[in-house]
Formats: sequence, structure tokens, C-alpha cells
Amino acid sequence: MRWKVYSDYLRKRFGMSVFRIGVDASFSCPNRTKERMGGCAFCDGTGAVAVYQRSGEGGFHHDAEYNRAVAESKVGYHQDIREQITKGKEFLRRRYGAEAYSIYFQSFSNTYAPVFKLKEVYDEALREGPFKELIISTRPDCLDDEKLSLISSYKEKGLDVEIELGLQSANDDTLRYINRGHDVACYIDAARKVKEYGLFLSTHVILGLPGETDDDFKRTANVVNAYSDAVKIHNLDIAGGTRFQYEYEHGMIRLLTLDEYIQAVELFIARLRPDIIIQRLISETPSHRLIAPRDFPDKSKFIRLLDAKMEADGLMEGSLYEKT
Ligand code: SF4
Repeated sequence: MRWKVYSDYLRKRFGMSVFRIGVDASFSCPNRTKERMGGCAFCDGTGAVAVYQRSGEGGFHHDAEYNRAVAESKVGYHQDIREQITKGKEFLRRRYGAEAYSIYFQSFSNTYAPVFKLKEVYDEALREGPFKELIISTRPDCLDDEKLSLISSYKEKGLDVEIELGLQSANDDTLRYINRGHDVACYIDAARKVKEYGLFLSTHVILGLPGETDDDFKRTANVVNAYSDAVKIHNLDIAGGTRFQYEYEHGMIRLLTLDEYIQAVELFIARLRPDIIIQRLISETPSHRLIAPRDFPDKSKFIRLLDAKMEADGLMEGSLYEKT
């Protein structure tokens, strides 16, 4: 591949394939309160729960085999964490032959609670190990020194500890438009702190938010480059029940076409610092919740298309990187 592939990184780091068990610890999200007007405009309130942790999630968008496996796994939603881990392990072992795992606090904002509560929940999950990594996904406005101090203490238990932070865009006007509830400065402050505590940082971005152009994608790449060890890149999916569904169906916003998105990702990757690990390249909203786009390929095909385009254009990750 013409970029740093996450699974390669994991194999090199741990000498084997490592699989994430995504759990929902019911932390919720401060941006979904009434005062904050119901959350990000693209959020359907499912908090990105792992598909295998939700019963009834039929019709997974990109892979019929996977979908069948999910249906067979008979797992539920909002279960006890230990039960989620057991079910996740079973599923990953059966589906991929997994032998090593990371615990991934995936859904909503996983530092949105008092420190004593965070410790209780993280400790409970870690007792179900062994795990290679502790991965905590959260918002930049849900981190402070006390929480980071607790989180970094898990390194002493021999775990790699990763924070996933949502940035989405480095344009404050866009962040306001999508009702993100924090600005770019807030992200930068949190990202800097995460690195001060010696944690691995992954940043989530969306390419194709309303009104954005290549200049915005470039600015977002530059902000990612400043602190991140890894990045998750998403296209804008319109999920049912969101503000963006209304705006899309009323012609107020448009989505990038597949060709436009491939081009945006190609340039974004080329502008990244060459050592940044790419953890995701495309959104994967389950089919029955996805309004648009309906014509994007599955992940494997997207990767093939992107790699071929980058090869044809003579671009690699870092080819256009500019130190700022
Ligand atoms: S931060 Fe995440 S969970 Fe919260 S409103 Fe935005 S997308 Fe939804």
C-alpha cells in the first residue's frame, strides 16, 4: 500500500494480528443534551456502537458474510461490559481466527464521567483481558489532567494506551455548522495534552463536510500532522434521523461523489506526515441506517481504487507533506 496500514503496524508492534473489541460503556455524550441542541448534525445517536454489539443490526452495508456472522452471534446492546467482551471475543475468534485483542471504548464519549467512575469501568473491562491495547474514544472537551493522569497510569500495566479524538474539520465555521460543540483550538489543546502524557493519539476527520473545499482538507491535514500518530478518515454518510438527513433531502447540502472522495482522500494522505498510521479510509454506516451515499463500494474495493489512483498519480503518504 502507498500509506501506513494499521494492521501492519499492529503485527510489527505485537508480532501478531490484534483485534479490537468495541464496547459501549453507556457514557453518553455531552453534545447530545438539550442545551447543545441535540448533537452533531451527522449523529444518529447510536454512538458508533460496534455492529456485533447490537442485535437487529441486519443489512450491514459492505459485507454480506460479515452481516451473516453478526446475525449468528446473537449479541445484544447495552449489555454488561464483561458480557460484551465475551461476545466480542467469540465473534472475532469465529470470524477472523483472532488470538489477541485490544479493548476499545468505542461508543459515545468515553471520558464523560467523573474520574472514579472512569476507573471503575476501565478496571472492570481490563479484568477480562489480557489485552494489548486500551483504546478510548472521546471528545476534545471531555479530557482534563485528572482523567489523562488516570488513563496514562494504565501504561504501567504493560498496555499500549490510545486516545481517539474527534476533530472532523480544522475549519471553525464548519464545526459551528455541524454543531460540533467545540472549536479547533479545543481539539489542539486536548491533542497537545494527550501527547504530553505520552499517549498514542488517533484523530477522526470527515472529508466532504458541507461547503468544504480542498483548502479545508489541507488545513485539516496540517492540524492532524501536528500531534497525531494515527488518523481515521471518513466520508460524510447521511444517516436516518439526523439533521443532515433533512438538509440532504431538501437539497441544502450535497455529498462528494465517489471520484471526488477518492481524490480528496488521495491528497489528504499525500499531505500527511509520512509516519502517520491510517486506521480508516471510509465510513461504514449499516445499510438500513444509511440514506446516502448508496453507491460507494465496500472497504476492500475502496482501498484498491485508492491505491491504484495514487499509483497512477505517483503519490504516496507524505509526498506532499509540508512541515508547518
Ligand atoms: S460527539 Fe459523537 S456521540 Fe456526540 S453528538 Fe457528536 S457524533 Fe454524536
